[in-house]
Amino acid sequence: MESADRIPELRKLLDGANYAYYVDADPLMPDSEYDKLLRELIDLEETHPEHFDKTSPSQRVGGEPISAFESVAHRIPMQSIDNTYTVEDICGWYDRMCDLLSEPPICTCDPKIDGVAISLRYEDGVLLQAITRGDGERGDDVTAQVRSIRSVPLRLRGEFIPAVIEVRGEIYMPNASFDKINEERKAQGDQLFANARNATAGTLKSLDPKTVSERNLAFLCHGRGEVNWNDEPDTWHEFVAAVKKLGIPVADQLVVCHSAQQITEAVESFEEQKNDLGFGIDGMVIRVDSFGSQTKLGSTAKSPRWCIAFKYPAEQGKTLLTKVDWQVGKNGTLTPRATMNPIFLAGTTVQHATLHNIDEIHRKDIRVGDLVVVEKAGEIIPQVVSSIPSARDGAQEKTAPPVMCPVCEGPVEKEGPKLYCVNPECPAQFREKVKWFAARDQMDIDGLGEKVVDQLVDAGLVHHFADLYTLTKDDLLPLEGFAEKSAVALVDAIEDSKTRGLARVLSGVGIRLVGRATAKTIARVYSNLDLLQQATVDDFVSLHDFGLITAETLHKAIHSKQGQELFHKLAEVGVVLSQEQNATVDPAFANKTMVITGTLAQWERKALTEELEKRGAKVTGSVSKKTDVVIAGESAGSKLKKANDLGIEVWDEEQLAARLSL
Ligand SMILES: [Zn+2]
Repeated sequence: MESADRIPELRKLLDGANYAYYVDADPLMPDSEYDKLLRELIDLEETHPEHFDKTSPSQRVGGEPISAFESVAHRIPMQSIDNTYTVEDICGWYDRMCDLLSEPPICTCDPKIDGVAISLRYEDGVLLQAITRGDGERGDDVTAQVRSIRSVPLRLRGEFIPAVIEVRGEIYMPNASFDKINEERKAQGDQLFANARNATAGTLKSLDPKTVSERNLAFLCHGRGEVNWNDEPDTWHEFVAAVKKLGIPVADQLVVCHSAQQITEAVESFEEQKNDLGFGIDGMVIRVDSFGSQTKLGSTAKSPRWCIAFKYPAEQGKTLLTKVDWQVGKNGTLTPRATMNPIFLAGTTVQHATLHNIDEIHRKDIRVGDLVVVEKAGEIIPQVVSSIPSARDGAQEKTAPPVMCPVCEGPVEKEGPKLYCVNPECPAQFREKVKWFAARDQMDIDGLGEKVVDQLVDAGLVHHFADLYTLTKDDLLPLEGFAEKSAVALVDAIEDSKTRGLARVLSGVGIRLVGRATAKTIARVYSNLDLLQQATVDDFVSLHDFGLITAETLHKAIHSKQGQELFHKLAEVGVVLSQEQNATVDPAFANKTMVITGTLAQWERKALTEELEKRGAKVTGSVSKKTDVVIAGESAGSKLKKANDLGIEVWDEEQLAARLSL
């Protein structure tokens, strides 16, 4: 159907599908059907531009990336809520409410979602603005990002549309999306998000709304800002029911309570359900239900008196530790991993936990066969907290460090708390090295993720980095998961990576102590391998931020037999071992050591690091006498203090922006 008449019909169908999915939790149609209808709508709107409407479901698909976030004042400050960790504190709070109001108030309990707080402003039913909490007074305008989140209605529904309504709530990442994103990052060799909240915050900071729309974020309402609504109810629980009718997702677990006893029961009974919701909950919010009473109670400078958050402790459980094994990393690091009898914690079955290192194992005296306490908070990687020595039967022996590498049986050496396999030919190390080499920040070879590297090494196709560059389509086709198209794509991607330049090759081949920043410094000074090979240890020591150990390690790595062979082979297959020098070195940044600290409104830290490095600065993690400039964002802490103590130049975000735009 080509007719424009179909446009309103499609919009209604798609809005209805979103409402059913996010508000009623009762999907109307499969995702494929939704996508098909959306495609049809987009096509029709393109043919009939006169029907453009910014609240059309097609307008979620992600607008143009924005260049920076604008800081905007909240009309009504977004205060934070006082936290409590005990039932006694809740009872104490309820008693205070009774005193202040001279009668026992009706209260509500609803889940406290672990996400990023946001304020959504609707005028005449249309989403106008989305602002992050920021410092409570001002936040970032993330409207373009939030519009791409499907559970946020672009237009409110129903008959009684408020003139103005600000709903406050939490943007969060459902557990399923979080797991999926971390799997993808793992395959790409990117650093994993520690938990869903970090992943949500990181996603919202993306200047490109398309990234946000791909991450499957969601929204739940948990508060109100400015409201101008003739039909506004008088209580929170009625407000929740009313905004739900407007199409705004709310938590369905709200409980109305008439006494401290009932509140305690609600909090305790919710602890059992909280892991089944499919998203992270870190507590419950308890509030006085009547808006009139809320106004009477008012706020302290920091938080409203009429509500309090109860935080559940990190979930712990006891289980039997059955095995400690040692996993070999890229530089030969041996990391201990605990295997335990499966235990259900915070919504998932846990069987493995990290033990960090051998010193940590000895400090906690953790032994195979021990009953151990395991902890998991939200979606964070599980930890072994302690052993329970009183449960031992005498068979448990002190955990000994491995005498040889579990994979190659090569010799193991201890350096500080860490153990290393020092066999340079270790296949386990090689596998990890290839994964590192191919990852996004190094040679950036699309399609060469963890699984494919394992396949290539297992099939005996790759014994050396250079072997990647001689792979052919016919080598790949017999491997599981490869077809004509994917095999050609991988060969092309590998070919493309030849020209990444010396800095990326140096960090890609995994020379110990030579990370991304160090490799860039080297490649800036020595623009090709020949020059680098002529440099002495003393030359390296004179480089910005090089110590003697790094200089010696680098020199040894380049001049060792393996090092010589490595670069020779890479050159032979056509990998470029030189670096184009940036002709336009920026004097405000060139050769300066900079430290970024605090939260920056307009920059993602990684992007800023890249920008500074592009201009010739070296970005490091800690402030020392060698630091030239500290860039301090909001709530910068100890690093800023240290910079001030040392008299180091400090730039705030405005000063940074001014210098960047010169
Ligand atoms: Zn080994």
